[in-house]
Amino acid sequence: MSLQERDRKHLWHPLKQHQLNPESLAIVKAKGCILTDEDGNEYIDAISSWYTCMYGHCNDYVIEATHKQMQQLDHVMFSDFTHEPAVKLSEELIKILPHNQNKIYFNDNGSTAVEAAIKMALQYYFNKGEKRSQFIAFEDGFHGDTFGAMSVSGLSVYNGPFEDFLIKVKRIPVPNGNNTNDIIEQLKTLVSNHKIAGFIYEPLIQGAAGMKMQDAKGLNAILNFFKTQNILTIADEVMTGFGKTGKNFASDYIETKPDIICLSKALTAGLLPMAITSCTQEIYKGFLSNDISKGFFHCHTYSANPVACAAAIAGIKLLTSKDIQDNIKRIIQAHKKFEKHIKTHPKVKNTRHLGVIFALDLNTKMERYGGLRDKLLKFFMDRGVFLRPLGNTIYIQVPYVISDTELQKVYQVIEHALEII
Ligand SMILES: *Cc1c(COP(=O)(O)O)cnc(C)c1O
Repeated sequence: MSLQERDRKHLWHPLKQHQLNPESLAIVKAKGCILTDEDGNEYIDAISSWYTCMYGHCNDYVIEATHKQMQQLDHVMFSDFTHEPAVKLSEELIKILPHNQNKIYFNDNGSTAVEAAIKMALQYYFNKGEKRSQFIAFEDGFHGDTFGAMSVSGLSVYNGPFEDFLIKVKRIPVPNGNNTNDIIEQLKTLVSNHKIAGFIYEPLIQGAAGMKMQDAKGLNAILNFFKTQNILTIADEVMTGFGKTGKNFASDYIETKPDIICLSKALTAGLLPMAITSCTQEIYKGFLSNDISKGFFHCHTYSANPVACAAAIAGIKLLTSKDIQDNIKRIIQAHKKFEKHIKTHPKVKNTRHLGVIFALDLNTKMERYGGLRDKLLKFFMDRGVFLRPLGNTIYIQVPYVISDTELQKVYQVIEHALEII
């Protein structure tokens, strides 16, 4: 029996209606940018397995670092102990994070990094004796699938069964260069009528919304407004972090820095699940007290897993290397050239790119799943490229180590796909 057949017996996959779509492709090997299926077919991983393996799959340097760590110390409880990989990772992260960040809190995945950020913001005010219960977030944002993260997410088409149980959130449009004043006016009304604890946002690019981009000046104005109102700002850099935008973090493009930052995905170089919620010293101080209950009692068993920390340290070493930085520049140049070539195509509505992220919208009706989107996915896979269109948006987020030949192949199948729609 093939893996694909055995899979159907006991497995339940995420984001899948099994009755309509029972099959999952079995991948047996990954190296660099190439995924190999159980029949030996190869695919270029043009979305870095959901923005994780930015230094390539099964990266030798990351594997060696984690292998070494595994032989030294596997896992200990982080509520009672500390260890070199966690200490070292905190030191290395603080060096590259926006300058106001000073404390590192460990989580298991992007959703719980957001969950911790939300709880931090609520408790920060609670500890001061202020009851604030609502958040502000962008329309069409995505922050994860746990309850708090689901609440602040604006892409709620599939959240119907849970809507009655979500925390309260007010939504504002993303800044597009023309609406900043309107947004600020809207915010003034919101903050005078509601007890707002924080503003959560995907800085500059909303991934799940289809790589929707924002006006950086407008975002800065919004963040400044929240500063003046003493409302905490939470940057969800789970997708944008670690070089994707051309800088280490999307927040590096924005003058006003967030109070809290959520990190995951490429944090561990695509090898192991882990996440981090970082914050300023000011927020950390809000939890210091002789009263135990003012501490932050949010914990996951595998917090600061030493092997995952070792992968993250190796990832930062790679990110800050000349080799990877040169690769990022090379991909940006290639994207610019491709954009120039493709943007006038009659089937292309618009194109956009930032760093290694490139997206184009097709001149067709939007369907998030099903129809054209499924047809495109199959078209790309049949030609050896894994791209995962979101509605009528095709986006590329390739590993930094992709070769020129591989990258050209990704562009070519996209151009070719425009002929079949
Ligand atoms: C993927 C993602 C999350 C959720 O992370 P998980 O590890 O899947 O829980 C949260 N925010 C953003 C911006 C993401 O892209």
